Amino acid sequence: MMQRVLLTGAVGCGKGTIAKKVVEHFEGFAYFCAGDVIRQHISNGSEFGKRASSFLKAGEHVPENLVNEVLLQEVQRLRDSHLVLDGFPRTIAQVTAVEASLPVSLCIELDVPRKERLSKRLVHIPSGRTYNLDYNPPRVPGKDDVTGEPLERRVDDTDEAIRRRMEVYKKTESKVAAAYSIGMSVQFNSDELFYYLKLAAVGTIGAMTLHTAYKFYLNLRHEKGRSRWKEFLAAIGFIPPLIPTALSSGPLSLSLDSKHPLNHNVTRFRFLLPESDQVIGLRPGQHVAIAATVGGKRVVRMYSPVSGNEARGYVDVVIKRYEGDHALSKHIHSMREGEKLEWDGPRGHIVYKGRGAFLIGRSKKRDKRSFSHMTAIAGGTGITPLLQILKSSLEDYSDCSNLHLIFANSTEKDVFLKEELDMLAETHSNRFRLTYTVSQPGDGWRACVGRPDSAEVLKLIAPPSDNHVVMLCGPNPMVKAVVTALKGIGHQERNVLVF
Ligand SMILES: Cc1cc2nc3c(=O)[nH]c(=O)nc-3n(C[C@H](O)[C@H](O)[C@H](O)COP(=O)(O)OP(=O)(O)OC[C@H]3O[C@@H](n4cnc5c(N)ncnc54)[C@H](O)[C@@H]3O)c2cc1C
Repeated sequence: MMQRVLLTGAVGCGKGTIAKKVVEHFEGFAYFCAGDVIRQHISNGSEFGKRASSFLKAGEHVPENLVNEVLLQEVQRLRDSHLVLDGFPRTIAQVTAVEASLPVSLCIELDVPRKERLSKRLVHIPSGRTYNLDYNPPRVPGKDDVTGEPLERRVDDTDEAIRRRMEVYKKTESKVAAAYSIGMSVQFNSDELFYYLKLAAVGTIGAMTLHTAYKFYLNLRHEKGRSRWKEFLAAIGFIPPLIPTALSSGPLSLSLDSKHPLNHNVTRFRFLLPESDQVIGLRPGQHVAIAATVGGKRVVRMYSPVSGNEARGYVDVVIKRYEGDHALSKHIHSMREGEKLEWDGPRGHIVYKGRGAFLIGRSKKRDKRSFSHMTAIAGGTGITPLLQILKSSLEDYSDCSNLHLIFANSTEKDVFLKEELDMLAETHSNRFRLTYTVSQPGDGWRACVGRPDSAEVLKLIAPPSDNHVVMLCGPNPMVKAVVTALKGIGHQERNVLVF
């Protein structure tokens, strides 16, 4: 079956660039660009070209009654190739026409900041090769890499024409993505998309690839979307496994499998997922709500598992024991193998997307932020969500973020997970720095001394900047004190994330 992948996205989002990369790297794919077809007609001076030209100059799309037949015929000509479609279908009427004869396999909506991209775009008109002064500059300024001929701005790249095309996009093409969105549309920015396609093409099934493929599937929540994507990957010779996620089917009742004390009051607990091939299905930074009846009262508390989505059939949590008649942590410490707890999720308003990027906030009001430096300050078991994020960054070879973990405890005997942390620091010494600090040092303590808001610790933190995020998790008094101290040394509130 021929694969037809429709790229949509507002003007200047990089559709052309990503489409050309796909065609270069994947055998059997042709690129169909509606704009190029129309421009070809214009430069040939065809009757259709003459009429189309006046609309393009005004920053408008060529009306459907003029263009539909021409474009459909061109697509029909390429019916025996896998196709990357750019700019067609662009309206619901065109979707109907295309679906009747050459249905689209997958619709991908690209989502990137575009205003700046467009104003920096240059084109070699005869070949259609595009350049961007920031992302993809020509080797010689102003000249095409292949022919050395001069580059120009496209006639429809003037500010006014761009504004008009944005408006037209909102009214028309954005509805196409919505029409395909039931099950077969995914939102990605072009760099991410190409990264996934590249992995797919390489076809290596190392742990990293599985993990990344899994991350991709998390974004394809609907079964139909998953199978379309699977068909597409199969067409280019790569069939990644579908990894079922436990939490996607609602609240779970999980039984305790084993427990391993990590120090005098912290224990690592392993719970079994309902199916042995399942993963828990949390993104780095997210947590679960665990509930049980303790001392006759229903208690719900949040916990961030320390195992990630590489763990098949189980999930690990590290829990510190507190005393109290209704303390859930005490109850969990007293559980025997086979006893059950209720789990629900995913919860959380901070998600690490990888390569320095975070989604911050709840559902529709989410803010995307990216940083090149991350400092994680953890107090005791507050390390759990931060560890997820650090591990996910370190396991991703395409993630170049610089990381610093400051792990604060009261005394040396309160420190836990030391072996795992030391191993990470040793393996990734090029970009991961680890600092232990205690407020009550014993005789043999050689690392940092001081609470995380003390001058001794603060001086170890990289200077404030919009590229530097400080993540905090721990007991409330610690978090409050550190937030105040960070403000005092110039860190802006927007660059401090509290879990
Ligand atoms: C997003 C999130 C993720 C979390 N992840 C983890 C995790 O992975 N592992 C983990 O162990 N905990 C984690 N916690 C904390 C956890 O949710 C509970 O608050 C903790 O286990 C105490 O609950 P409890 O029912 O046992 O005690 P409670 O009945 O709530 O309290 C019992 C006693 O302990 C004291 N106490 C409770 N918490 C603290 C504290 N942090 N510092 C000092 N005294 C305290 C109380 O003041 C009280 O005196 C997380 C919390 C959040 C919000």
